[in-house]
Amino acid sequence: MKKMAGKKTTEDIEKQKTCDDRKCPHHGSLKLRGREFIGTVLSSKAAKTVAVQWVRRVFVRKFERYEKRRTKIMAYNPLCIDAKEGDSVLIKETRPLSKTKKFCVVEVINKK
Ligand SMILES: [Zn+2]
Repeated sequence: MKKMAGKKTTEDIEKQKTCDDRKCPHHGSLKLRGREFIGTVLSSKAAKTVAVQWVRRVFVRKFERYEKRRTKIMAYNPLCIDAKEGDSVLIKETRPLSKTKKFCVVEVINKK
């Protein structure tokens, strides 16, 4: 029997060990404050960035009914979290990381 030396750790643990991202809320120095939301990842094509969307209901008085409105936000996606399209994620507000990113993915709640 051959033994694989030093390859027993899972991919996730290895990622966490090697995470030296300064903008990571778990391993870096990024502070989270403000609002938090749960949404679905629309797109994860850009590097370390995800577009997160969620639906809210707004009451329209004229028709006495609710209409659906969508909120779409760009959020920072650290390598150790690595959320993919279709994932349900928890995002928290942080300092502005770029022109459009003011939120950061904290955890993946439901994998697609
Ligand atoms: Zn990390």
